[in-house]
Amino acid sequence: MNIMKFGGTSVGSAERMMAVARLAASYPGTKIIVLSAMSGTTNNLLEIADYLTKKNTDAAHEKINLLEKKYRTVAGELFTEAQARKAALELLKDHFSYIRSFTRDLFTSNELKCIVAQGELLSTALFELYCRENGVDAVMLPALNFMRIDREQEPDQFYIKENLQREMEKYPGKTFFITQGFICRNAFGEIDNLKRGGSDYSASLIGVAINASAIQIWTDIDGFHDNDPRYVQNTHAIAELSFDEAAELAYFGAKILHPSTILPAKVAGIPVIIKNTLDPEAAGSAITDKVSGKGIKAIAAKDGITAIRVKSGRMLLAYGFMRKVFEVFEIYKTPIDMITTSEISISLTIDDTTRLSRIVDDLKHYGSVETDHDQTIISAVGEGIAEGSDAARLVFTALSGIPVRMISYGGSQHNISILIPSSFKSQALNALSAHLFNH
Ligand code: ADP
Ligand code: ASP
Ligand code: MG
Repeated sequence: MNIMKFGGTSVGSAERMMAVARLAASYPGTKIIVLSAMSGTTNNLLEIADYLTKKNTDAAHEKINLLEKKYRTVAGELFTEAQARKAALELLKDHFSYIRSFTRDLFTSNELKCIVAQGELLSTALFELYCRENGVDAVMLPALNFMRIDREQEPDQFYIKENLQREMEKYPGKTFFITQGFICRNAFGEIDNLKRGGSDYSASLIGVAINASAIQIWTDIDGFHDNDPRYVQNTHAIAELSFDEAAELAYFGAKILHPSTILPAKVAGIPVIIKNTLDPEAAGSAITDKVSGKGIKAIAAKDGITAIRVKSGRMLLAYGFMRKVFEVFEIYKTPIDMITTSEISISLTIDDTTRLSRIVDDLKHYGSVETDHDQTIISAVGEGIAEGSDAARLVFTALSGIPVRMISYGGSQHNISILIPSSFKSQALNALSAHLFNH
């Protein structure tokens, strides 16, 4: 069994949706098609939710009307036959009157998640209708019936497996399943999601739950590139990556994959294949347990980082100090990305600043605290590069002239990470590509 996940651009217009239906139907065997919302929709829904939070009902209505108009156009293009078009317009009416129903109610983060979930619910409903209209015996597996996160916001893999299997058993002999990426229920049974870009993660969790032979991530580019193509012109697709390399790159900002996608696939040993919907014949990238090639394979960047330095009056290495510092982050459930230490100080980075002021207040018990905002982690990744190769020399030569705030080497064998001010990000990415890959 295969998982085929199609991202926002891949289902971003009627034309793209039709192409996806053809592509999925042309693949042999049983498959679960995981769809994102049409590109732009999640952002639009978040804007609507933002207006509703601010009680700006008129602006929310205006946005809802615009979005509905867009979907009515898509429906018109997808369905030429009167009966099907009527069914599609009915379907849109239901979804949009549901969205409008919130303009009268008290609006909390729960309501926000219900609104945001409409993106994937809309794309899959239209896609299912289109497939059925075109003779594909498509079956919907509602993600809200099986995808679940626990109290720690972590996927409940046991629940997902049990419930997905139960859903599928309702349809013996069927081979073409459709489900929503991104959306799930939380520990309280409420509608929730796997965070931005989460459809990749859905695909991976579903792949593991049904022990798929491969998890295919279909997107708008011909594979995992050696640098971020939004900042660097001359980037190249990488044919093969190991799970560890891809996991480091995704975690450290490569937008092509949600940061948590790789781990479940790695544990289950299921290959993740990245393919281009716009060019299905292109080889793409295969992410497996195989290690291939040498040296630095790719660069990724993670923005929105805050660095915190705690400077103690006394020697840091007195035991117990680190524990106390880390405990503060544990209390406020804030993950740390990078750490460096000196004799009397420790620097750490976080990307979730929701509880920063309380973290800083607590850290002040242990010394003086400085924070630097608008930082970027640049990571160079390749199997074994932080084990005595000359990768570090190459990275620092490329970055000469760029102010470096922190360096992390040796934490993982596969990653060298550097913290720089975000204003130098583009310069750093381009310098690294020029120096490492394009000479
Ligand atoms: P989807 O909607 O299919 O999930 P995304 O926009 O989330 O697609 O991810 C694909 C985009 O990620 C690409 O179009 C590209 O701009 C960006 N990207 C960033 N880093 C990389 C990389 N290393 N390799 C390929 N694409 C990358
Ligand atoms: N639609 C969601 C988002 O835009 C999930 C995804 O695209 O993967 O973040
Ligand atoms: Mg994505």
